[in-house]
Amino acid sequence: MNRSEQLQALTTDTLWDIIIIGGGATGLGSALDAATRGHKTLLIESHDFAKGTSSRSTKLVHGGVRYLAQGNIKLVREALRERGYLLKNAPHLTSVQTFIVPVFSWWEKMFYGIGLKVYDLLSGKLSLGNTQILSKHETLAHLTSINPKKLVGGILYYDGQFDDSQLAIEIAATAIEKGATVINYCKATGLIKTNGKITEVECIDVLSEKKYAIKTKVVINATGVFTNAIVQMDDHLQHDLVSPSQGIHLVVDAKFFPGIDAMMIPKTDDGRVLFAVPWHDKVVLGTTDTPIEEISFEPKPLVEEIEFIIKHINRYCTTSITRADINSVYVGLRPLVKQKRKGSTALISREHHLSVSPSGLITITGGKWTTYRKMAADAVDNADFIGKLNKEKCITAHIQIGDEQEKENRFQKILQEDASLAEKIHANYSFTKAQIVYAVQYEMAMGIEDILARRIRILFLDARLAIELAPMVASIMATYLQKDKNWETEEVAVFTKLAEQYILK
Ligand SMILES: Cc1cc2nc3c(=O)[nH]c(=O)nc-3n(C[C@H](O)[C@H](O)[C@H](O)COP(=O)(O)OP(=O)(O)OC[C@H]3O[C@@H](n4cnc5c(N)ncnc54)[C@H](O)[C@@H]3O)c2cc1C
Repeated sequence: MNRSEQLQALTTDTLWDIIIIGGGATGLGSALDAATRGHKTLLIESHDFAKGTSSRSTKLVHGGVRYLAQGNIKLVREALRERGYLLKNAPHLTSVQTFIVPVFSWWEKMFYGIGLKVYDLLSGKLSLGNTQILSKHETLAHLTSINPKKLVGGILYYDGQFDDSQLAIEIAATAIEKGATVINYCKATGLIKTNGKITEVECIDVLSEKKYAIKTKVVINATGVFTNAIVQMDDHLQHDLVSPSQGIHLVVDAKFFPGIDAMMIPKTDDGRVLFAVPWHDKVVLGTTDTPIEEISFEPKPLVEEIEFIIKHINRYCTTSITRADINSVYVGLRPLVKQKRKGSTALISREHHLSVSPSGLITITGGKWTTYRKMAADAVDNADFIGKLNKEKCITAHIQIGDEQEKENRFQKILQEDASLAEKIHANYSFTKAQIVYAVQYEMAMGIEDILARRIRILFLDARLAIELAPMVASIMATYLQKDKNWETEEVAVFTKLAEQYILK
């Protein structure tokens, strides 16, 4: 994955079959799907891959237990199937995770026990393990920090877990390997029409400020919560299609929540879902669901969201977590498909939404990370029709993501050239300096944020440490990107400002 090589493709007078705007889960999945069907495919991402919501999830590969409670069996069954495919196709980036639902009455035990057995049954052959009903004693043995007061028992069930941005980057690499052209820091700025149909996409290389107009048969808009801007680029009279809802996560040390099991509270006293999920030797606590007006690439947590999570974790557990214990707070925006009905965003469908405009713009939005492959398949099926492309079938259900052997060979090469790069970036983490070099050479990392936020997840795990490590990361990157001291200084300043938003003061 080399950015200059990928950019080269924009200088040729090519007629692309499909241009995809947006390099999150949905867009990258679409690029992989389109390339494996043999289409000439280009994806452009305005920032880094997974800069948007796709690096800010709760890290669950799941069927969505709460959609089951809403009676949406079809949605759950589809997501469970996708969960199975993802765990099979990317085993090195996903894992099976046990979840425990603590219950506080016999009625709850029966209700969640039956519900989660159904959840497992719906996954059929792709089941990850049998749901078990636990006694109070067994629940306390699994969740050592749970508050025993009023606890009646628990339900243990299985779901998946993953590293979202790493998966995104490996989907990008796989798409390129299958023939797609995939470029980060390349923003779509306009759509050109001929006889009412979109025939060209205008874009700008954000790093060099060079502009391009690229010919295509069809365009897929996969810009998540930024969808409205592209829809209105196509037709300025269009109403907003998505309504943003914010979800925050607090990351704390594992000492607050020891053990290997995750906890799921399906309904807090104000009706929300709360997770505590072990991740990279830390624990992710979340999330919230707060309707917001403004969208941003760096959304900010609200005081009441932070208080909600801390208060409820301390209530369900024997912990007394304070703001000072939070290593990092990260915020994601859900691109929820707007419905006319006003009310809580938690009730808006997470099913994906696909629309085709009169000029042929295909917009795919909503859904969740777990179902990215199915969303992509639906988008490319439509692109085949709109762009009159040859109708090859989708084969991504059985395409491996990433190439572990190739990755290992590349690491060996990096270390042969400079053995000192085997050094860890910090005593408390297993990440090495070689991973920084790898990300620059093979994963299109262009700045400190790309490394510390999305290639190795220090910003999300420990924002203060991320600031401390920034000069070292800049210095290694500068060597391999051939940048000067000014670049290093500027990068460190920009990154430090950004990382400060992830720290609770
Ligand atoms: C708090 C929270 C927790 C979640 N947890 C889970 C979970 O645990 N499991 C799960 O399965 N799902 C989860 N989800 C849902 C999941 O993360 C999203 O559905 C998914 O990441 C959306 O991906 P996307 O590609 O549609 O959007 P995005 O990831 O936002 O990607 C859109 C991309 O488009 C780019 N873009 C915007 N404008 C332009 C332009 N003009 N030109 C080029 N590029 C542009 C953006 O930079 C962005 O990278 C969660 C969501 C939230 C908010």
